[in-house]
Amino acid sequence: MQVEHLKTDILILGAGGAGLFAALHALKANPDLDITVASKGLLGKCGCTRMVQGGYNVALNPGDSIERHFMDTIEGGKWLPHQELAWTLVTTAIERVRELENEIGCFFDRNPDGTLHGKAFAGQTFDRTVHKGDLTGIEIINRLMEQVWARPIRRLEEHRAVALVPSKDGALSGVLMIDVRTGEFRFVAAQAVLLATGGGPTMYRYHTPSGDKSMDGLAMALRLGLPLRDMEMVQFHPTGLLAGPDTRMTGTVLEEGLRGAGGHLLNGAMHRFMGDYDPKLERATRDVVSRAIDAEMRAGRTTPNGGVYIKMDHLGPAKVAKQFKGMVDRCRDCGFDLAGGLVEVVPTAHYFMGGVICGVDTATERHGLFVAGEDASGMHGANRLGGNGVANSTVFGGIAGDVMPDFIARNPGHRPPDASVLDAEVERALHPFRRKPGDLNALREMLLDTMWDDVGVVRDRAGIERGLAGIDRIEAELLATGVAGTDPRFNLTWHDWLNLRSLCEISRVIAFAALRRENSRGAHYRSDFPGPGELATSTFTVARNISGKIEMTDRPVLFTHVRPGETLLREAAE
Ligand SMILES: Cc1cc2nc3c(=O)[nH]c(=O)nc-3n(C[C@H](O)[C@H](O)[C@H](O)COP(=O)(O)OP(=O)(O)OC[C@H]3O[C@@H](n4cnc5c(N)ncnc54)[C@H](O)[C@@H]3O)c2cc1C
Repeated sequence: MQVEHLKTDILILGAGGAGLFAALHALKANPDLDITVASKGLLGKCGCTRMVQGGYNVALNPGDSIERHFMDTIEGGKWLPHQELAWTLVTTAIERVRELENEIGCFFDRNPDGTLHGKAFAGQTFDRTVHKGDLTGIEIINRLMEQVWARPIRRLEEHRAVALVPSKDGALSGVLMIDVRTGEFRFVAAQAVLLATGGGPTMYRYHTPSGDKSMDGLAMALRLGLPLRDMEMVQFHPTGLLAGPDTRMTGTVLEEGLRGAGGHLLNGAMHRFMGDYDPKLERATRDVVSRAIDAEMRAGRTTPNGGVYIKMDHLGPAKVAKQFKGMVDRCRDCGFDLAGGLVEVVPTAHYFMGGVICGVDTATERHGLFVAGEDASGMHGANRLGGNGVANSTVFGGIAGDVMPDFIARNPGHRPPDASVLDAEVERALHPFRRKPGDLNALREMLLDTMWDDVGVVRDRAGIERGLAGIDRIEAELLATGVAGTDPRFNLTWHDWLNLRSLCEISRVIAFAALRRENSRGAHYRSDFPGPGELATSTFTVARNISGKIEMTDRPVLFTHVRPGETLLREAAE
């Protein structure tokens, strides 16, 4: 199989908030560099940044502070976040949101006095979520896309990265990609590579992320031997739309602001159940609300499609229709009246807190490889606050863009790829063409159910072990299953196969990490270890692929800014 060779200075994998910010910052830092953005989807149309509904957390109001945003992030993350990363997130979010408005051209909603409006989001002590109605991501990604189009930044759209290829000395050489349209292989050599493929836990029965995301970035990083942190931490959003099994709208998220604004959750018997679980009722954090809904579902107190209801009409249908236009329209499209009636919802896998270990400068332990956005780990610990996701991708994407030109200045030159790795990776990607075709969809359904049932919202040892056995079986069957024909051009079945392989590999790591953490923190809940464990001696899990086997270890969390029991808030400390 022929592989076309291309060369660029900086190769950015992913065209979400992290990837596009990185491209703009890198070009600004050094306009002489050749910068390429490669994405599995179309620029401006792919990834989850475009899907951001609620908004962007930033401490702008004089009544708020970066310390308050930081404490919310640390406490929400159950003392597991990497505190330097979290601090960088909350401090840099301020300059990034100004940049979004003043340089990128976004318009966010404003208060009557002209200041940016901050909406309420669950789990936060201040209304700091800056937004554009309830479709904030479209504003952010459209403006970013226009800025990228207007500049000499190369684009490889509908290019799927399949392997991070090292040189013989171990440093990163470049990335092997498939041009989805032609089916051709392309190796792009780069002096620096940013991994920004956006995580995305799409291996669960109900999930929210965009269809182009299948954990490819983390699967590639794992294969390269990079350490992955907090892999047990899958965030379930409590209110995914439940519209029956026959529509892809099922699982898509109904935003947190609905609960923040005073929406009620009712079970199938029309009982407002959150009071049975948490005094904060519907405004409890995502993990608490998801577990409460899961408990109602397991107890059989469900709606016709097996979930619970969200109810908004007591807030005034006209007000709800105005404040949540996007959500109301989306529900209407599926035949539901969000403003005046009841809509069925279910917890849905939404965000992945785990990812590649990196420093505040986004550098990984592999020379030449950087990581940002949802592929990176440590900023959120056991729980991401709603609104901290897009802040994370734009903050650290921008930092990666600032840092990579400097890295290249200090480490100039391309490194030749290790030819044996390149050949092996091409063969690996072509594997399904060498097997008899089979039913990929059935395998995918099996994986969705296995992860949902056994490594889902509530976990225990027996379930996780059952899940691991299931993942092994599904992967073995996948490797024995091929795709029909030999034509690689726009062969979506081939890409489904590759998606499924990435999902199996990362599902296994999630299960191993879930087994390793014998306590319950944030998004990770073990019914056989329901307590949080000692906060002062908190550890985080690290998974690494050693010769094809996943090795799990724990490392201590470093409390570099604040220790459990302490606070940075002056009024609380006094
Ligand atoms: C429905 C929804 C609502 C959300 N609402 C909010 C919110 O209100 N506030 C908030 O803070 N966060 C929210 N989030 C989370 C937030 O969207 C993400 O955390 C963030 O946008 C991730 O940005 P990213 O740049 O890392 O990845 P993304 O924006 O997801 O971009 C990933 C990119 O990688 C590309 N890619 C994937 N695989 C490959 C591959 N193999 N090769 C090449 N390219 C690849 C994709 O095509 C895409 O271009 C929401 C998420 C969803 C799904």
